[in-house]
Amino acid sequence: MTVRMPVRLSKRPTTRDPASEQPAASTGYHEAMPPEKLHWVHLYREVVTSGLCTGCAACVVACPYDVLGYDDEETYRPFHVDTDGGIADCTHGEKGCTLCTRACPRFRSWETEIDQYLFGRTRTVEEVAGVTQQVLLTRATDPELLAAGQDGGLVSAILVWALEHDVIDAALVSALEGDGNGMKPTPAVARTRADVLAAAGSRYTYSANTLAYAKAIESGAERIALVGMSCQASAPAVMSARKAGKIARRLTLSIGLLCSKTFDDAIFEELFEERYGIARKDIAKINIKGVFQIWLRDGSYQEVPLKEGRAWTREGCKCCPDFSAEHADIATGGIGAYPNWTLTLVRTDRGREVIEGMVADGAIETRPGEEDPGALDLLAKLSRVSRRRWPEGSPPEPRQVPVKLS
Ligand SMILES: Cc1cc2nc3c(=O)[nH]c(=O)nc-3n(C[C@H](O)[C@H](O)[C@H](O)COP(=O)(O)OP(=O)(O)OC[C@H]3O[C@@H](n4cnc5c(N)ncnc54)[C@H](O)[C@@H]3O)c2cc1C
Ligand code: SF4
Ligand code: SF4
Repeated sequence: MTVRMPVRLSKRPTTRDPASEQPAASTGYHEAMPPEKLHWVHLYREVVTSGLCTGCAACVVACPYDVLGYDDEETYRPFHVDTDGGIADCTHGEKGCTLCTRACPRFRSWETEIDQYLFGRTRTVEEVAGVTQQVLLTRATDPELLAAGQDGGLVSAILVWALEHDVIDAALVSALEGDGNGMKPTPAVARTRADVLAAAGSRYTYSANTLAYAKAIESGAERIALVGMSCQASAPAVMSARKAGKIARRLTLSIGLLCSKTFDDAIFEELFEERYGIARKDIAKINIKGVFQIWLRDGSYQEVPLKEGRAWTREGCKCCPDFSAEHADIATGGIGAYPNWTLTLVRTDRGREVIEGMVADGAIETRPGEEDPGALDLLAKLSRVSRRRWPEGSPPEPRQVPVKLS
């Protein structure tokens, strides 16, 4: 029997300067939130109703008073219950609670603030895809995880490895609703290999995996990995930097999925079914590689031009500047010349410790990212395109050239 040694991850924030490979003397991070008590009234005006809100649900899970709800059917936005201060205000906020603004990855100067917190510096002009320690191509060595994964099965392999090595107690993932025949993702908790396998692969409509946090806590989990789109992957670092309560300590690992958009659920009926005769119940898998690649349960395959999906772009994605999951511990994507490999950006010390541990155990194979220069070019290009979406005049400006903070 193999004895699995527990692995302990280093504390946040990272203390290594990835650019120099030298330990940084200090992250230089200072509490960036102003002393003013910023709460729902500010979040509602500056993020929720300004077009910046991604629907990541970080504010909802951070709220200790249960006065925030979440619409996962149409708007993918948080709302404040009518009975307590009305939709635009909050009585708990008036009394001094600031947790929703402390959790929000789009509030005020989030990008430079979290760069500084995680990496001890802000990004350079060249680091358009964010700060990284390493870029790799990776894939799971376990054939079952590789087959189930969208690309190289890295994300699922990380979760299985981290559960088996006592790094985490649970992961927040996206499972499929009901019998899994509707391609409808839903936030879920994975505590076992079987749970991880059931959630593997990508669905291209939104799943606010953070919402599974309460269930994970109910099941006794204390160390939790969050798998999520780029917008969600910033939440653990934001919460940790701004001291957003216990949740900040519990979200111990952030695994981000590269992302330029998600689609409204109506795309299934209004585009795939109406125009191409593809019923959602018949779809086994979708991937996006310049086109929608659609594999059907009867073994057949169809393609739908990606530009036809534009009309179903989810509202919350239209201003999102983060293609590359810039504040994840590990960011993962499928672009590049090698199918069945995951493009992997190792950003933090925690991320590096996980990848190194997995390599040492033979859980994954890796190749240098430079073996696929086309993927690195595309990563930079898609990151640049997303950054241009950030609206001018919104604070801060991920559109602008990053400056080094003193
Ligand atoms: C909506 C979406 C858009 C993406 N866009 C791009 C892109 O433009 N370019 C690119 O290179 N890569 C993109 N990716 C990432 C890519 O599809 C893979 O998720 C990534 O390469 C990891 O592959 P893997 O085989 O290692 O992961 P797997 O082992 O397959 O694990 C994937 C994990 O993602 C979770 N997941 C699946 N769907 C969702 C969802 N909708 N919301 C939240 N979590 C989910 C699953 O629960 C699972 O834990 C996107 C992914 C998604 C979900
Ligand atoms: S971006 Fe996320 S945390 Fe911020 S308001 Fe929207 S749902 Fe809440
Ligand atoms: S583009 Fe992707 S990362 Fe950005 S808001 Fe949409 S789902 Fe989130």
